[in-house]
Amino acid sequence: MSFTLHGIPVSGGIAIGRAHLITPVSLDVSHYLVEADRVQGEIERYRAAVQAVQEELRTLHDSLSASAPGELGTFLDLHSMILADPMLSKEPKRIIEERRCNAEWALIQQMDVLVAQFEEIEDAYLRERKHDVTQVVERILKALIGAKSPMESALAKAESQEGAMLVVAHDLSPADMLVFKEHQFAGFVTDVGGPTSHTAILARSLALPAIVALHHAREMIEEDDWLILDGHAGVLIVAPDDAVLEEYRLKRGALELEKKKLKRLKHAAATTLDGFEVELHANIELPEDAKTARDAGATGIGLFRTEFLFMNRKEIPSEDEQYEAYRKVVEVMKGYPVTIRTLDIGADKEAESVQREHTALTPALGLRAIRYCLAEPQIFLGQLRAILRASHHGKVKILLPMIAHAHEVTQALQFIALAKSQLEEEGKRYAPDVAVGGMIEIPAAALSLGLFVKKLDYLSIGTNDLIQYTLAIDRADDEVAHLYDPLHPAVLYLISQTIRGGAKAGVPVAVCGEMAGELRMTRMLLGMGLKQFSMHPAQLLSVKQRIVTSNMTELEEQVRRILRTEDPERLRDLVDALNVV
Ligand code: PEP
Ligand code: MG
Repeated sequence: MSFTLHGIPVSGGIAIGRAHLITPVSLDVSHYLVEADRVQGEIERYRAAVQAVQEELRTLHDSLSASAPGELGTFLDLHSMILADPMLSKEPKRIIEERRCNAEWALIQQMDVLVAQFEEIEDAYLRERKHDVTQVVERILKALIGAKSPMESALAKAESQEGAMLVVAHDLSPADMLVFKEHQFAGFVTDVGGPTSHTAILARSLALPAIVALHHAREMIEEDDWLILDGHAGVLIVAPDDAVLEEYRLKRGALELEKKKLKRLKHAAATTLDGFEVELHANIELPEDAKTARDAGATGIGLFRTEFLFMNRKEIPSEDEQYEAYRKVVEVMKGYPVTIRTLDIGADKEAESVQREHTALTPALGLRAIRYCLAEPQIFLGQLRAILRASHHGKVKILLPMIAHAHEVTQALQFIALAKSQLEEEGKRYAPDVAVGGMIEIPAAALSLGLFVKKLDYLSIGTNDLIQYTLAIDRADDEVAHLYDPLHPAVLYLISQTIRGGAKAGVPVAVCGEMAGELRMTRMLLGMGLKQFSMHPAQLLSVKQRIVTSNMTELEEQVRRILRTEDPERLRDLVDALNVV
């Protein structure tokens, strides 16, 4: 029977295909009783899994490079010790024998007991070790279930199946989305997630239609169900009839035709009707994306989210590996500027290779971005050296994420100076005039711009985090997604003040958050005086079309009126009026 689900649209387009459901390992554990004559076999299966994890941890330890931070080794030692403790290596075997349950179930029962014991401990440090226990348990579970992670099995299925496949998951991490980059799925839907979570951003950069916050989609949809995903309306039609399928095939065809027409604008300059030149740059996550950026007509990379190089791997990429990655982008961009943002790990962007022992209570407010880099000087210095070395091959700019304090910029500049002097001593080449900019994505930074324009060569507004921190809305949480409002007067005030403040100080300002790629916002940003936009390449030509049909001088007056308006409905009407083409 056909039915329709509604969620938050995060990436436009129409996808039609069969459903593939993804289940996380810990939810995938089956619970069953085993016959008496199979108990020994089950115990043996558990023993083999523990041994496999022991070997995995040992190999990981042995493969640590000399430059890897000492904590990594300590962390692996701790996990080996937890694994060797009889509470994990022996007790589950006793549970299997006594209760005759399968190995996975026995392990989960024992984990619950251990976690409860840790929670009783008064010492905060020791109490936190429960996360290490659960991580070790996850490893044993993976070994028990088999080598394939849910993403791996999705890929195996995509390869073996003919026709388009749509992924249906409870949640997908940004790291999972990286896997999508290599294996083309037609689209995806998730039960949770917000419109500017990094998972959603990646879907847009891949031009994959996507919907989040569908709540119970994974429970209601069955494997291989036919699905129509309308990523613009946020509608998912399950098991559609033939007439509906035909209607959406026609719609999809019309959208593809529109896209083809836009391609004619690829080489056109992004100049407004009254002659203002606008720079349209691209946001990328991996070196391979630079080609997509060029194909879309981007005249620079406005944001290289380097943290994606650190994902889906156990070890931090070495300085040389990073240098090669950055150099590749610089070479593809052939003299156009490449803005390389230093590692912005944390919040919804997790990477095993840089995981810390301490788990932040509120990750978005914790040790992420520049705070993380300053707390991990070796990683930061290695990355700065790699970026500087790449600057020898073209035009490179360094971008510091999430600045809030003047001393963060001062310290970062000291690290850059140190990296330069080290390279000089070693006879390694770099461009001496690499511009250093900062991201304005914390309200405190927008409100104390004077501190930063003195020290930095340029600014880039990260509207995703700026909105998150101004409105106290977790950008990845669908339960508060309806409050995530780019048109909130406070948000508009901070953006316009930053653009004006930069102009007054003679410091260029760009916008690189999702707002820069939203057509509804293009004219408003132009009216605020913005002349540098950076967005995912898939959106670039539509934004260019809007710019070349806009008059910046006229918009300035209209936007002044918007900024004086507080009533939300009136404000929305005025913004929509800007967009009447
Ligand atoms: C932003 O916050 O707007 C931004 C561009 O950075 P990220 O989305 O990677 O946090
Ligand atoms: Mg950000």
